[in-house]
Amino acid sequence: MKNIYIFLGPPGSGKGTQTARLAERLNFPHVDTGSLLRANVKAQTPYGIEAKKYMDQGQLVPAEIVENIIFERLKENDAKNGYILDGYPRSIEQALILEGIHEKLKNFWHDDGANVCAIYFDVPMESLIERLVNRRSCSKCGEIYNLINKKPQRAGICDKCGGSLIQRSDDNEETARLRFETYNNETYPLLKYYGDKGILKTINANLPIDEVWEELIKITG
Ligand code: AMP
Repeated sequence: MKNIYIFLGPPGSGKGTQTARLAERLNFPHVDTGSLLRANVKAQTPYGIEAKKYMDQGQLVPAEIVENIIFERLKENDAKNGYILDGYPRSIEQALILEGIHEKLKNFWHDDGANVCAIYFDVPMESLIERLVNRRSCSKCGEIYNLINKKPQRAGICDKCGGSLIQRSDDNEETARLRFETYNNETYPLLKYYGDKGILKTINANLPIDEVWEELIKITG
């Protein structure tokens, strides 16, 4: 059976950095709905044009749009043996949709389904606004930096590929606050949902990046 990892945690909890690293280690695709949506916004697809209205307000994009985008992504060959979901599901509605997607994928690949493990990045809310407004990412390779705890060696330049670093338009204080509100109302209930299913693991994500990584390795093997 393949393994699927679902990552839960508030915006700025460090999921993106750690899941990208884990994806490399496991040779699984890192399926990040925020990035998939931003790519649609950039390409001005019909999904992207609709999604942007919600993203600018820190709200969840309608479930059907994200469902279509993610289902298409998970049918790609590289996701056949397992994948990492970062930022999906973000509501109980999406968790139920995801179970439907897994059933459809089982038929699509003619396999015996998947072991699902949900991993929660636990961070005190107070530290998060600061983390978010200091976040930068590479416009070329997507590597994530933070001007407080993961500075690039040269200001504004990616250490990995030399691309220029940009700040996401929704990483400003006002939209960040709205995103936290959405997280508390819609996403937080998933902890109980996956806890009740007995598949939730929690990581203290308020530690230095390498210590969080050690914890993650212990859980994922
Ligand atoms: P992120 O990059 O994960 O912080 O996501 C950025 C924005 O994309 C969020 O504030 C939402 O507007 C939207 N988004 C990302 N993932 C989802 C999802 N699973 N469902 C609905 N909206 C999403």
